[in-house]
Amino acid sequence: MTEIPRALRDRPLWHGMPVPMNVVWDRNGTPDFASLNHELSVALGKARQCGMCGKRMRGEAAFIGGPHSLEAGLFRDGPMHPECARYAMQVCPFVSGTHRQYRSLDVEREHATPIAVHPTAPPPQQMGLIRCRRYDMLPGGLFHAVDRVGETEWVQ
Ligand SMILES: [Zn+2]
Repeated sequence: MTEIPRALRDRPLWHGMPVPMNVVWDRNGTPDFASLNHELSVALGKARQCGMCGKRMRGEAAFIGGPHSLEAGLFRDGPMHPECARYAMQVCPFVSGTHRQYRSLDVEREHATPIAVHPTAPPPQQMGLIRCRRYDMLPGGLFHAVDRVGETEWVQ
């Protein structure tokens, strides 16, 4: 089992998994790992706080996305500490691509505000992680990674 990074150790656990800061909780108090709270994700990103652990980011930020996001440097999901992002890629089936079937908007609407759902586009074939020194916010809530560092890290 992958060790939980230090920054994530004080997050609430759900079946042994730390619950990321930016996921949606339904009304029964169940975290929905497949649904990102996009408003919160944007707010955290603006404040340079990690989307996974919620703590302040210093130095490099990491983004996870499919091939098109990675090529364009544009990401819907917010920035994370590189170590938190690597952990998410290793353990989260929605990030690693082992769970490729995103649920429909209709199902999500019962539990979450429409703004909080993932797009219904087909999931990208392979997810990767990039690191950058800076990022901008674009209109529409997209993050633009600038000043990239190192190579793209792909899910194993
Ligand atoms: Zn973090």
